Amino acid sequence: MEREEELAVRLAEVKSEIPSHVTLIVVTKTFPTSDVQLLYKLGERNFGENRDSEGSEKSLEVPDDAIWHFQGGVQSNKLKSIVSWSDYIHSLDDLSHARKISQYAQEIGKTQRCFIQVNLDEGELIPGQRSGVKPRELMEFASAIVGLPALEIVGVMGVGPLDGDPKIAFSNLKKSSISLQSEIPSAKYISAGMSGDYKIAIEHGATHIRLGSSILGSRSPAP
Ligand SMILES: *Cc1c(COP(=O)(O)O)cnc(C)c1O
Repeated sequence: MEREEELAVRLAEVKSEIPSHVTLIVVTKTFPTSDVQLLYKLGERNFGENRDSEGSEKSLEVPDDAIWHFQGGVQSNKLKSIVSWSDYIHSLDDLSHARKISQYAQEIGKTQRCFIQVNLDEGELIPGQRSGVKPRELMEFASAIVGLPALEIVGVMGVGPLDGDPKIAFSNLKKSSISLQSEIPSAKYISAGMSGDYKIAIEHGATHIRLGSSILGSRSPAP
């Protein structure tokens, strides 16, 4: 019961800060399935994972109306599995991945909903370091994938900068969202904001926030 109470209290605190139009995704990565089950019991339905293996395991242990979000770095050999359990992929930034996603989704008769990840770092990208398409490349990327038969673009996703002003980053993401909607009017979602910056993200139009530590506590260092 203790863990359930702890989660209930943190959840209530966080939820009092979130307007009702914003979807809370509880990022359960590194936490046990038992935590996801408690969160489900407390009424949460949206869960986020960064690794295929964790997401595919946990998604089997929670009722079917849970909604699973994959937001980690994409490894192309994991895509088939990710498509099998995730409702949304937030971290799409690669054309070959998009083609594979559509192909795998088509094979199992689903349409895979995806956010395009936009890189919000200032300055030039250091290859292999931080993910996302550059804002100036967003429209070209979107038009390259918009015709894929079993992939639906639902919006943009961003991760606040490591150093740098989250206000500037999230207002740039909002601009990217507006451009994207000029081409794809239904792509309205903005996935932005983690435990440290979600209030700022909401001020800049986030429709989906991804919170881990503020609800579940601190994670042990990533392996
Ligand atoms: C881990 C992670 C989160 C959650 O981070 P917290 O700071 O624990 O809220 C959100 N988004 C992404 C992409 C992550 O990797």
